[in-house]
Amino acid sequence: MSEQLKKLSINKSRFRKDFDELCKIGRTKQTGVNRPVFSQSHLEARKWFRKKTLEAGLEFHIDGAGNHSALLKSHQKDAPALLLGSHLDSVPDGGRYDGALGVLAALEVLRSISDEDIQLPVNLEAIDFTDEEGTIVSFLGSFAFTGKLTQEILNNPRGGRKNLVENLERVSLKESELFSAQREPKALAGYLELHVEQGPYLEKSGQSIGIVEQIAGLSFYRLTFIGREDHAGTISMQERLDAAQGASAFTLAVREIMLNKFPDCKANVGYTKYTPGAFNIVPEKAEISFEFRAADMKTFREMDQTFVKQAKLEAEKYGLELQIEFLGKRDPVQMAAAPLDAIHEAVDTLGLSYKKIISWAGHDAQALADICPSGMIFVPSVGGRSHSPEEFTKWEDCVNGANVLLHAALGMASK
Ligand SMILES: [Zn+2]
Repeated sequence: MSEQLKKLSINKSRFRKDFDELCKIGRTKQTGVNRPVFSQSHLEARKWFRKKTLEAGLEFHIDGAGNHSALLKSHQKDAPALLLGSHLDSVPDGGRYDGALGVLAALEVLRSISDEDIQLPVNLEAIDFTDEEGTIVSFLGSFAFTGKLTQEILNNPRGGRKNLVENLERVSLKESELFSAQREPKALAGYLELHVEQGPYLEKSGQSIGIVEQIAGLSFYRLTFIGREDHAGTISMQERLDAAQGASAFTLAVREIMLNKFPDCKANVGYTKYTPGAFNIVPEKAEISFEFRAADMKTFREMDQTFVKQAKLEAEKYGLELQIEFLGKRDPVQMAAAPLDAIHEAVDTLGLSYKKIISWAGHDAQALADICPSGMIFVPSVGGRSHSPEEFTKWEDCVNGANVLLHAALGMASK
């Protein structure tokens, strides 16, 4: 890379001004934003992105899944696209940085390269993926983009089928057209995403930049322990078949197993429901929701076997039947060598400190990694807070992250 390119940096004041403008769209009483996908404020944020793109003299494009892109075209014919992106939607009453920082930084990288009239052998594309947060369909935009979206997913989406149909109609997207967003892997040079960590590890380490090496896999189950409904006063303790005991024993075992066998991974029993559910009735059914996360495939599989076995063991111990419903999973993803190298070089060029890190939250990069070399850059989240108006990242870290994105993009483009 030439010395001139090495000195390149984003336009800090423009970046700041635009970030402040974007934060005002869907702003909540505190410092948060409320921009669930296809809400009025989300659509407004997308309109704002379009305006900024056109003002910068960049091309603008919307695909069949509603993904919004700013394009800085290469002078080379048939150049592949190097994607930089994230998402402008938020969880209800979420934070200012989650997703928005990555989209804005991507746009700023395009503008900074365009300002200097630098010619690259790739089309640079800043992309805002639809519904990363999964309000309607988890990863709708990036799944459509990478060919992972299926009719089955659309028939039973996370936010309900009715919600999907109504929302698509309202924003003039056609269900059949969603699939047209799919891109050919050979037309893609790679994908880079800047994101806030949303966890405490980077801040605790005192380093400026997180280089994501893996995105953790996630698996979810519904487990139903089934016993017998009885009078809680008259049936003896020895005779009762109490579903709550099995579910509770499993819940406590999860913690023990995690601390002893998988101390670096995560598992959660997030929901319990007893049926019939009264003071004086022994519960016939105890339904729990259970999820676990691991960063590598071997551990991911081992956890799966361990927990299924444990659930069966507890059911047997308490004389219960057990229904196991596997509700889906996303496999752990290893980030590719080319983007990892490019991010390392960018961090070195800028003289920043870094830490290799695992992403414990899901991201669009997880889907993209299947079809093109993908990488993620993290910046510290103060107190590890996210999906909350309390979400905060120091401005200096945001600027550093955007500059790493810029240099990593230049590095990827030259490979
Ligand atoms: Zn996000």
